[in-house]
Amino acid sequence: MREVLQVRFGEIFLKGLNRPVFLRKLVARVRSAVQNVGGHVWLSDSRVYVSDVTDMDEAIRRVTKVFGVHSVCRAIEMEKNDFEAICKQAVELMKDCEGTFKVNARRSDKRYFMDSPMINMELGGYVLEHLPQLQVDIHHPDTVLSVEIRDMAYLYTHPIMAVGGMPVGSNGKATLLLSGGIDSPVAGWMIAKRGVTVDAVHFNSPPYTSERAKQKVLDLAGILSESLCGIRVHVVPFTDIQMQIHEKCHEDYTTIIMRRYMMRIANAIAKKEHSQALITGESIGQVASQTMHALSCTDEVADMPVFRPLIGFDKSEIIAIAQKIGTYETSNLPYEDCCTVFTPRHPATKPKMDIILDGESKLDTEALIAAALENTEVIEL
Ligand code: ATP
Ligand code: MG
Repeated sequence: MREVLQVRFGEIFLKGLNRPVFLRKLVARVRSAVQNVGGHVWLSDSRVYVSDVTDMDEAIRRVTKVFGVHSVCRAIEMEKNDFEAICKQAVELMKDCEGTFKVNARRSDKRYFMDSPMINMELGGYVLEHLPQLQVDIHHPDTVLSVEIRDMAYLYTHPIMAVGGMPVGSNGKATLLLSGGIDSPVAGWMIAKRGVTVDAVHFNSPPYTSERAKQKVLDLAGILSESLCGIRVHVVPFTDIQMQIHEKCHEDYTTIIMRRYMMRIANAIAKKEHSQALITGESIGQVASQTMHALSCTDEVADMPVFRPLIGFDKSEIIAIAQKIGTYETSNLPYEDCCTVFTPRHPATKPKMDIILDGESKLDTEALIAAALENTEVIEL
């Protein structure tokens, strides 16, 4: 008998043809998550198990963050044929519980000498007899005592919900435009949760943006990196482009034109990185550059899909996710972003394409982009 961590994944994803690929990735992700705290990780009968765990709380903290994991529980693993031993262990497990309970037996070994209703009755009866403070309530129990009869028997009481989603690496790759703000780290996290490998592009404008502002973005990427299984950040020098836009384009159009340059450069990096989409943290109407008109003007320069997972979210909803994933505090640090360096007084909310194109015609777009790409710094986290 020993304690193991039992890890479950969302059943819905197991129905497709890529089930083995999905499972292999999930096992690999769990294995790397429990590095230094768990000895042995294996897949058996639609569950992943971790044994020889040296720090169970830390293992749970890490595994519940792995995309693709639905829930985990501390389970007692024991021989299944000695039913009395199972009953005794159940009493041990339930001895501090009060109020109501029910037994939930599941039997994947159909040759087992008792069926599930019988296990429920026998085990429930034994627990009631030995723990008189408990009553049975099969509809709304305070505690569910689960027993699974597989190769071995597994007993547990309180499953812990995990993040859900699909394992990173099971669903293609996308490139995140990562600022130091609240929204973009959340956007990247949400797409990665669907199994997408994410890398990042950050634009900075030294000396208008400081080294600390850049470090803040790298810190955010570092926080994301645990869930994203590593992240590569491309830091693009954006000062020249911003200066030229500022000097040569209509003031009200500087933001929208700047965003189109960001999009073009991110698009080029994404192609080089074999990404299939871009990700931004935009949501409709948040600022002038995120009106419906403005968003379609930025989309126009990308030749791949632009994912905006926060498009219908209010700021308060985005903040709640940022707090949950641990990026909020860092995002809230007050360092400048290149977007805030040359902000127009009256940014166009319904930008006209002919004015945009007229502004851009005054810039040597190809040379500016080539120079920015050439001087891009790549940082692996
Ligand atoms: P965030 O949206 O991350 O909170 P923000 O609100 O300061 O930051 P916005 O002006 O709303 O930024 O920018 C919209 C989106 O454009 C961001 O979510 C991000 O995807 C992208 N973006 C903005 N600034 C940068 C930057 N310096 N580098 C990379 N991407 C950026
Ligand atoms: Mg924003």
